[in-house]
Amino acid sequence: MNGIVTKSTGSWYSVRTQDGEIHQCRIPGKFRMKGIKSTNPIAVGDEVVFELEPNKDTGVVKEIKERRNFIVRKSVNLSKQTHIIASNIDIAFLVVTLHNPETTTTFIDRFLATAEAYSIQSILLFNKVDTHDEEMDEYREAFQYIYTSIGYECIDVSAKEKYNLELVKKIMQDKVSLFAGHSGVGKSTLVNALEPSLNLKTKEISEQHQQGQHTTTFAEMHPLSFGGYIIDTPGIRGFGVVDFDKYEVTDYFPEFFELKSGCKFNNCTHVDEPKCAVKAALEQGLVSETRYESYLQLLREEEEHYRQDIFK
Ligand code: GDP
Ligand code: ZN
Repeated sequence: MNGIVTKSTGSWYSVRTQDGEIHQCRIPGKFRMKGIKSTNPIAVGDEVVFELEPNKDTGVVKEIKERRNFIVRKSVNLSKQTHIIASNIDIAFLVVTLHNPETTTTFIDRFLATAEAYSIQSILLFNKVDTHDEEMDEYREAFQYIYTSIGYECIDVSAKEKYNLELVKKIMQDKVSLFAGHSGVGKSTLVNALEPSLNLKTKEISEQHQQGQHTTTFAEMHPLSFGGYIIDTPGIRGFGVVDFDKYEVTDYFPEFFELKSGCKFNNCTHVDEPKCAVKAALEQGLVSETRYESYLQLLREEEEHYRQDIFK
């Protein structure tokens, strides 16, 4: 039988079949996923083949289909072990608000670059547009142009007034979606408005609840009544980390990647090299200044990590 892993609780995995049945499955000893070394052999989102055990409702996983993508968490200790948070994500929605709280371009750009590195499509949802006056509308439009002009979809929404939610649902239908964003941007409100049966607690409450506990935050997938799944991870931190390589960062800024072939040096980092196509485009106003600043910041951070690594 085929199914998708929706939850992992230690050695048992909840596997959901296409007709909505859920079977608790285990994996045979010494089961190893090819390619990546991780602390967990199977992750939420994995598509698996399993066999039911004789006269039982439980199953044994026989095969994991190749992952289209996956997001990881690295442990902070020196072993640097990788934990796969979730796999086969179709869309990462980043919920942003321009005020209360303010989402910065740096935050957005880091998220988008990370999603690019993971090969996950991202869409920006601008929430709380019900609170915007004319001036804010104009600001939002200019802000969004930075992203729409380089191919990222931006959608105005209001979780409170249920504005544009049908459009978002249409995009989510039959896909695996993940929602991220700063605390307070309205993720829980939005997800609850999209799928009331989920009844997620608002972040404030769940965060308070988790304080003082050792939170091993496992992702979980919830089926959607209109088809597809939503991955519940604890906000942006649940999106995982990517170790960018200095020369790779440019690949995750699609508009820079496109220009890169015009740079004199093919390993150009677009900082102070001569005849750099990205800097030329920046001077002509064809590349956004905030995007360039975010890029420089990511680059600097990577260099710092690199330095830390070699002095360890
Ligand atoms: P989360 O931390 O991202 O999950 O945010 P919550 O869903 O807990 O929402 C944070 C606050 O923003 C709550 O007080 C919500 O009522 C409010 N909020 C959420 N969406 C909207 C919206 O579309 N419009 C307005 N005006 N407030 C909203
Ligand atoms: Zn360059």
